[in-house]
Amino acid sequence: MKEELYVIPFKGLSVGVHSFEWHIGKDFFAAYEMSEIVDADISVKIRMIKHVQFLEIGFSLEGWAEVRCDRCLDPLAVDIATEAALYVKFEEGSVEDDEHDVIVLSRNENELSLTSCLYEYAHLALPVRRVHPEGKCNRDMITRLEQYLVKSAEPLQR
Ligand SMILES: [Zn+2]
Repeated sequence: MKEELYVIPFKGLSVGVHSFEWHIGKDFFAAYEMSEIVDADISVKIRMIKHVQFLEIGFSLEGWAEVRCDRCLDPLAVDIATEAALYVKFEEGSVEDDEHDVIVLSRNENELSLTSCLYEYAHLALPVRRVHPEGKCNRDMITRLEQYLVKSAEPLQR
């Protein structure tokens, strides 16, 4: 994974608004063993405002992601549309902000990687219930899963 793609080199940027447009897809999530997203096509828009003492970062993620259906385990595509905001402050400044997520960086830092934020926001955007519409599940798979469940329950009946 090319992690450097999702980096904001804030030190070299002027005070004011900066925009970044990125894309995250299959390779991005493949780097995480625990990822629930197996494929995706998500466009990421970042609007960063550099202030003298802190950074304000707005995220917008839009696209689709492929997860596993909770019922039949077949691939299921879901829409991703989410926004998030993050404040980045520096260690010697006081950090008091209950409304936003805050990252605290050392003054020595020159850049900020947003890779883990993007991973997290994409997963938070997934629907809680991930199943195909009624009747659209893979019937063979459900039959097999049911057989498996019956089999594994057998010892309990003895
Ligand atoms: Zn299904």
